[in-house]
Amino acid sequence: MIKRIYPEKMLNVFSDVTPDLLREYEISTLLVDIDNTLAPYEEPEPSEAVRQWVDHIKASGIRIVLISNNCEPRVNRFNQSLGLPAVFDSGKPGTGKIKKFLTDKGIPQTGLGCLGDQLLTDAWLAHKLGGAALIVPPISDKSTALFRFKRRVERRTILAYMEHHEEYSYPFEKAAGSPEWKQKRGMTHEHVSG
Ligand SMILES: [Mg+2]
Repeated sequence: MIKRIYPEKMLNVFSDVTPDLLREYEISTLLVDIDNTLAPYEEPEPSEAVRQWVDHIKASGIRIVLISNNCEPRVNRFNQSLGLPAVFDSGKPGTGKIKKFLTDKGIPQTGLGCLGDQLLTDAWLAHKLGGAALIVPPISDKSTALFRFKRRVERRTILAYMEHHEEYSYPFEKAAGSPEWKQKRGMTHEHVSG
């Protein structure tokens, strides 16, 4: 399971994704999650930072498609000022509806990347599509039982990633990733990886 959901790259915030980074992973179409990746659930409209980031990526010639498991009204309202191709109720990590959308829009199904906050949906989707997974920590975590369960499953993968990428810090609610935790695992700042 870890292999399927292990991300190519973890970043601290969506705006850390640059055209250079996308080119490094040979991504020409970036499938972007909305909730907890670009905005908290309760935020109906994109922030100025989101708008600027979208413009910046698009200006570099890289396509952005919104892929959300949220409902049509949520996705449409969020996308109103962005005007991006968008899939609501996408059913990710299922690929059926997304592949059909890309085909219908004439978007090549090569050079795909996914940017999202969840390993079990966004990262898995990326790998099913033969693409790269770029993952950010959720902006604000919904503490429902399902989310807590998913976080538990994801935790091992996140910890495995953090062992090899000191620059990445995941805001676990517990002490994992804290300086004490890193020290215990021999991951102090003096430690040089690789
Ligand atoms: Mg999300």
